Amino acid sequence: MNRSDTTQDDQPARGAVVVGAGIIGLACAWEMHRAGVEVAVVDRVGPGSGTTAVAAGMLAPVGELHFGETDLLRMNLISAGRYPEFVASIERSCGTGIGYRRCGGVHVALDRDEAGELRRSHELQLRLGQGSEWLGPAAAREIEPGLAPGLAGAIRVPGDGVVDPRVLTSALVEALESERVPILTGRAVEALRRSGDRVVAVGLEGGAEIETDVVVAATGAESGRAAWLPDEVRPPVRPVKGQVVELRGDPGLSLCSGILGSERVYLVPRPDGRLIVGATSEELGFDRTVTAGAVYELLREAGRLLPDVVELEYLGARAGLRPGTPDNLPVIGPTAIPGLYLATGHYRNGILLAPFTARAIAAMVTGEATDDPVAAADPGRFETSVSGTS
Ligand SMILES: Cc1cc2nc3c(=O)[nH]c(=O)nc-3n(C[C@H](O)[C@H](O)[C@H](O)COP(=O)(O)OP(=O)(O)OC[C@H]3O[C@@H](n4cnc5c(N)ncnc54)[C@H](O)[C@@H]3O)c2cc1C
Repeated sequence: MNRSDTTQDDQPARGAVVVGAGIIGLACAWEMHRAGVEVAVVDRVGPGSGTTAVAAGMLAPVGELHFGETDLLRMNLISAGRYPEFVASIERSCGTGIGYRRCGGVHVALDRDEAGELRRSHELQLRLGQGSEWLGPAAAREIEPGLAPGLAGAIRVPGDGVVDPRVLTSALVEALESERVPILTGRAVEALRRSGDRVVAVGLEGGAEIETDVVVAATGAESGRAAWLPDEVRPPVRPVKGQVVELRGDPGLSLCSGILGSERVYLVPRPDGRLIVGATSEELGFDRTVTAGAVYELLREAGRLLPDVVELEYLGARAGLRPGTPDNLPVIGPTAIPGLYLATGHYRNGILLAPFTARAIAAMVTGEATDDPVAAADPGRFETSVSGTS
């Protein structure tokens, strides 16, 4: 590694271990590697085995904007702006296209009540200086001819994009492997060894250790119950279940050209003809059961929005666990334990926030300046003293 790199208390770093090979861990490993840090990744199962494989892949800072989330919007916008370069850097190393597209989105109100709600979202987008356009039913159907005829109004958000998270994950793995960054799969991290206060190694299931000065915990929804993280820095991340349905049609006759959303459902087209219908939001702990009720509701609502979906082939349904936090912001940065960083809690936006998170972690580990809004994601806001008080 670059011997001039420093860790958060200016000790020379010997290398970094990223725990978790979801989109966040892999992206952090990629940016740290690009910054000259010697890095290894460890995953309990394998790359993309967690929530990342379930995500729809919307890169939608504006279309998915919620009230009271301006710090998140700033992070999301920076990350969306970095996507082209992030994807291009990976494509250069792995040699295959990832299929990232800035296709925009159309968000539809199916009746008058929904139109009132959508108007409020539109006003919020405009108040925050974001590009979005109100469309009447005819204009919406001109952009997306497959939309249900009775719609009450729509918003067009031109800047939002999409990527297939599974394709991105495979490309990141290929890129890291081509650069000889080790990815250890089927190995759970079970312990953090410290000398004095500093991190010096992670302990793996079965007893082996990897010596390191820097550990980045990118363990997604597991982070809040990761026993290997000391109590005082373990973040209050909780699992929020989401189910999606996967359909397939003719790639040449896609039912929609970009993201389509209503109040209850969203549709994300893939270049190979698949259509992702998402998503539920359920507070059910670590349950990942796919339920008939969720599949029924998602398909019913998809049919109200885009009637021809019922003609598509049903490929299956999946459930994943969003890593939620009490303030809906991610947890990115150094902890009170020298050498231990967190990159988790990305909730609904982990795919979108991968470039932002990865750049921030790489900068922090190498002592470079970071983006302003990352301060709002500081793990310190949730840390407790060893006696348990905030
Ligand atoms: C239905 C649904 C739709 C979504 N749609 C979108 C979307 O359109 N756009 C968007 O931006 N986001 C979306 N998200 C959110 C996004 O999927 C998550 O925020 C993101 O995948 C989190 O990535 P991660 O790398 O933190 O976690 P994960 O992908 O869960 O990866 C964590 C990894 O850590 C490993 N791990 C855990 N503990 C250990 C340990 N002790 N040792 C070793 N390895 C360990 C796990 O095996 C796993 O591979 C969606 C989520 C859901 C559920």
